[in-house]
Amino acid sequence: MTQQAVSGRRRAETASASESGLRPRDAARRGRRAAARPGAVRQFAEIASAAGVGQKAGMALAATGLVLTATIPTTAGADAVDAGLATAAETAPQPQVTASGEAVVAFSRTSVGTQIDPDGRLQHLLSVQSAGGLTPAQAKSSLGDPLDSMVASSAFGYRVSPLSGWAGEFHRGQDFVAQCGTAVKAAAGGTVTFAGWHPYGGGMRVVVDHGNGLETTYNHLSAFSVAVGDRVERGAIVALAGTTGASTGCHLHFEVMVNGEVVDPNGWL
Ligand SMILES: [Zn+2]
Repeated sequence: MTQQAVSGRRRAETASASESGLRPRDAARRGRRAAARPGAVRQFAEIASAAGVGQKAGMALAATGLVLTATIPTTAGADAVDAGLATAAETAPQPQVTASGEAVVAFSRTSVGTQIDPDGRLQHLLSVQSAGGLTPAQAKSSLGDPLDSMVASSAFGYRVSPLSGWAGEFHRGQDFVAQCGTAVKAAAGGTVTFAGWHPYGGGMRVVVDHGNGLETTYNHLSAFSVAVGDRVERGAIVALAGTTGASTGCHLHFEVMVNGEVVDPNGWL
């Protein structure tokens, strides 16, 4: 009985394996699909004739990516992540843009939509869910760089304490190389909720609340230029890097807090 069942199954497996007789049909289908896509081959030919070179040379040009970049749609990429949240403006077809070398581009704040306004994008995400509800893909790059030059030093998480030499210290933020006096910028728009001396090692510290459970903190500062209650824009200079508090030298200790808990800032930068 058991054996029969086993051999019965084997037969079934054999039968399904022999269904690889589907392969020729698959191949034909694939061929048809390729033929239905006029793209590749014809493009090569067009590129080749436009460039006044043979088809082989055209293909080589295309393969380098120097030519094909022109045919990649502008709406691909990061926006795909937020497809469910896309506004009509974001999904609208992109007009083709041409400009002469002398053209001057004037940016009007009101004409900048959420698609290219990272702060508007973050505020939009936080308007529909708490910071803790954001997916890693939504959180990634949602914050701006707090320094012009971002060179990571000590990472977030457990480490050997640079002060006590003690293993197992939990490092609550990400350190970045910064000389004392380097401008420190708000990672996103928000409201200053703390600007003063941090009693637990942060030295001079600024905390910015971005709303709905998301906060960033800037520590060991030599000075700060904001006060509690100030509204700051993304990228606004809020302080100067320093080495106040529990610090072994000039650098920026940057923290991201979600619902009051520190998280790895690299998931947000
Ligand atoms: Zn640190």
